[in-house]
Amino acid sequence: MKKHNFYAGPSILSEYTIQNTADAILNFADTGLSVLEVSHRSKEFQAVIDEATALVKEILEIPAGFEVLWLGGGASLQFAMIPYNLLVKKAAYLDTGTWASNAIKEARLFGEVDVVASSKEAGYTYIPKDFVVPADADYFHYTTNNTIYGTEIRTDPNVPCRMVADMSSDIFSRRIDFSNYDAIYAGAQKNLAPAGVTLVIVRTDALGKTDRPIPTMLDYRTHVKKGSMFNTPPVLPIFSALQTLRYYKQLGGIDELERRDVEKAKMLYGAIDDSKMFTGTVTDPADRSIMNVCFVMTPEYKELEPAFVDFCLARGIVGIKGHRSVGGFRASLYNALPIESVKVLVDAMHDFEATH
Ligand SMILES: *Cc1c(COP(=O)(O)O)cnc(C)c1O
Repeated sequence: MKKHNFYAGPSILSEYTIQNTADAILNFADTGLSVLEVSHRSKEFQAVIDEATALVKEILEIPAGFEVLWLGGGASLQFAMIPYNLLVKKAAYLDTGTWASNAIKEARLFGEVDVVASSKEAGYTYIPKDFVVPADADYFHYTTNNTIYGTEIRTDPNVPCRMVADMSSDIFSRRIDFSNYDAIYAGAQKNLAPAGVTLVIVRTDALGKTDRPIPTMLDYRTHVKKGSMFNTPPVLPIFSALQTLRYYKQLGGIDELERRDVEKAKMLYGAIDDSKMFTGTVTDPADRSIMNVCFVMTPEYKELEPAFVDFCLARGIVGIKGHRSVGGFRASLYNALPIESVKVLVDAMHDFEATH
């Protein structure tokens, strides 16, 4: 049976990405070798990383002055690398969830951290609006999409300093005005590639301002200078990322990706809002994520939640259980998820509600 994959990460990849990756595991670029067993310094792999970098720049319309890096360590390593490289004295952070607060914890190792607002007291069910970012902050850090809680900031906050964004779970779902940013990073395993590589886009001018010693591998300048080839990069995830980027370009680029994402989210939120059995967990509709839709059953049906998960499984719907810290359901609608899968989920919600 066809599976409808709503996992939050690692998560669904396009068939194009999976098929081309499978083919290259058997025979990479007609070398007669697997992509798993070629040198990262071979001309065939150099062509892969060069094209992937060029496509990131093209699709996101990255202006001059930024470098695209392919690093290991996950988005979680960026929580430390960002302040290590960019925090001179003081940085401002917005606390909108577990990932944001993990980033705050790391930044405190490197300097003064001004947490300008937090929605922690409300279980991170909304995005704080009225916060003030000090003009003398080295940067303002925020998480664009809160994967666990289903909230999202899709319009850049208006702040008096440059920004740094963790876009792990919504990169390639909207345009980015790079003039506002010093850095953007994203673990690949939500909207780009299998786990193992992290995409970092950094403004080169912002580097070298701190005089603290930085270990070689944690210094962005190392990777800028060596084109992400200082050491062995995550070869396979980069190969897969290239496939996804080609697929994104073929689809029509960032505006088309966003159009599809908005359409899918609308369909699912519509079904939740029309239902007596299900209800969304994000308090303000303006804060709802188009990537991770979080919902629960209303109190009178609450005990049916496990039964609904089983009901869905029988229809090939996987990965809708909410994060263990939140409960309920979370349907992740990443770029590679076809709208047909959302229809199947919405039908399951209707049918389950009708029989209970
Ligand atoms: C998944 C996720 C992370 C963690 O990524 P790792 O690559 O596992 O370190 C960080 N931030 C956000 C927004 C995420 O969704």
